[in-house]
Amino acid sequence: MAGIWLGSSLLMLGAAWLVGAGGPFMIAVLVCLFSGLSGLVASFWLFNRRLLAPVRRLADHVRFVHEFRDTPQQMPFDLSRRSDAVGLLTRNLQKLIEESRSDHAALLEQTLNDPLTGLGNRRMLESQLDVLVPLSRRLSCTVSAMMIDVDHFKAFNDHYGHPAGDVCLVDIAGVLKDTFRRETDVVVRLGGEEFLVLLINTGKDEAWALADAMRAMIQALGIPHEYSSVASVVTVSVGVATSPHGLLIDIDDMIAHADEALYDCKARGRNQVASRLMGADTTLEGSQPSIESTA
Ligand code: GH3
Ligand code: MG
Ligand code: MG
Repeated sequence: MAGIWLGSSLLMLGAAWLVGAGGPFMIAVLVCLFSGLSGLVASFWLFNRRLLAPVRRLADHVRFVHEFRDTPQQMPFDLSRRSDAVGLLTRNLQKLIEESRSDHAALLEQTLNDPLTGLGNRRMLESQLDVLVPLSRRLSCTVSAMMIDVDHFKAFNDHYGHPAGDVCLVDIAGVLKDTFRRETDVVVRLGGEEFLVLLINTGKDEAWALADAMRAMIQALGIPHEYSSVASVVTVSVGVATSPHGLLIDIDDMIAHADEALYDCKARGRNQVASRLMGADTTLEGSQPSIESTA
């Protein structure tokens, strides 16, 4: 509107100049020109205030959400309550951001958790290690790893069926969840009937005692297993490896040592705990890793 006003004023000014008109007519044309210019400036100011500035704020907000996706952030309230197109755009953007945030959380949950037991999986272990390994190195604290394996689980599956095997794994996972509840405890299902527990600031004796209590609790569940040569109920064997104070932890090395201890349990008849102090074979000259077990 202000543009049309300004355009026609300019046309009239041009015509007046061509026909050589002066005096009051020229003044009227100049007034029209001035009011047209002011109208144009006012329209631009309004356009900027009502539309451009809010859109710029929305763009900044979306960039912030993208960069700090873990920080929940509400859309500017003065924009979301507006009843015009900007308000509608703001509310729809907010809905889109909330949906994408919950989809992202669900996806993360799926990729980090074992769907059967609800425990973490291998990927969860790796993501936790990114935090725990530097932390334990910095604090130079003791770390223990436990490898837990169900005894004669193939025979259990073969005789009671795969679904019953699944229920058994869920029950065992329940005991692990109940036993290892500290915020820094990592409990994952590595696959099949094998679980791994990682405990920081937990020495060899404490880890052994916890593992043995957990083993006894699983036995006490009383899940019948008449095809086991160990007991009439489901049992587990546990290999524990402890990395002592000041020894830089290497998780692959720890798991390998815990696996060796587990193998010892199986060889000695299952349903027991065996533990190894890592570095014992290097720090104590000529000695073998210490092994202790319980039946
Ligand atoms: P050991 O005492 O020496 O550990 O013998 P085992 O029979 O437990 O060990 P083995 O590795 O021979 O068998 C593991 C079995 O675990 C084989 C498979 O039937 C079962 N299994 C693996 N994953 C699952 C699962 O997700 N659900 C069920 N129900 N069974 C599984
Ligand atoms: Mg196994
Ligand atoms: Mg087994």
